[in-house]
Amino acid sequence: MELTNIGTIRELFARHGFSFTKSLGQNFLINPTVCPKIAELGLEGANNPSEVCAIEIGTGVGVLTRELAKRYKKVVAVEIDEKLKPILEETLADFDNVEVIFADVMETDLAAVIADRFGGAETAVCANLPYYITSPVIMRVLESRLPVRSMTVMVQKEAADRLCAPPATRECGAVSYAVRYYSVPKLMFKVNRGSFMPSPNVDSAVIRMEISERKELSETEEKMLFRLIRSGFSQRRKQLVNPLSGELHKSKEEVSALFAELGIKPSARAEELTLEDYIRVAQRVC
Ligand code: SAM
Repeated sequence: MELTNIGTIRELFARHGFSFTKSLGQNFLINPTVCPKIAELGLEGANNPSEVCAIEIGTGVGVLTRELAKRYKKVVAVEIDEKLKPILEETLADFDNVEVIFADVMETDLAAVIADRFGGAETAVCANLPYYITSPVIMRVLESRLPVRSMTVMVQKEAADRLCAPPATRECGAVSYAVRYYSVPKLMFKVNRGSFMPSPNVDSAVIRMEISERKELSETEEKMLFRLIRSGFSQRRKQLVNPLSGELHKSKEEVSALFAELGIKPSARAEELTLEDYIRVAQRVC
């Protein structure tokens, strides 16, 4: 079954009476080279590639799901749109190692899914993410410290640039710091807008995040770290001491003194601090 063939997809849709729901970010991949690459990237660096399991978010008609099923021991995919159920029953019929859970990924306990279905096996997250919840999904996986080795996801090109931007650069945002804290992100390749059906208005890119084991901060310090970053970026044009004095209930002079003590320029803006700077501030104020 060639799920990147427009004729095949149209025929499937017609037979099952399926139509796209734009609000669910349904842009399905029709470029045959992309899904095999995403699937392979999830296996990179695996200790035992034949034992690795995969979580997919958003199956569409199953084009990536099939590539995952060919390579991974087990695949669990979470898809919100139940209208895709009869289509997936047909497109995934050749595989007995795939389970599709029809649910909102933001309300799915992925840790429980991994424990129940994969029993502690190495796991990779692979997806062509719905663009409207790119950052929330990534943050949910990272912040919940899901036991996964890597996350390989397609996102809009602009989001990919921001997610992979090193902290303390003009392109970075609060999410860039969070991604760097939990992982080593890398932009792998760009994907032209013509690779999707229907075609979106912007190009996309695949990024891979290799999950890091971070243990230097306590839970309280970690929470403080992200409060500081979020607060700073909520007023990124202002000097950081301004939002932080409100956030920490300290005077600007006290925050400036704290910065000076840590070797941080008191006039710095949110984007001028490195992740390590924020970590030191969090540790100092906790
Ligand atoms: N993997 C397919 C592909 O590459 O062609 C589909 C990708 S499409 C960009 C995103 C998919 O995510 C759609 O099938 C959409 O229905 C699904 N989706 C949207 N919001 C979701 C949510 N909150 N939870 C789970 N799936 C969701």
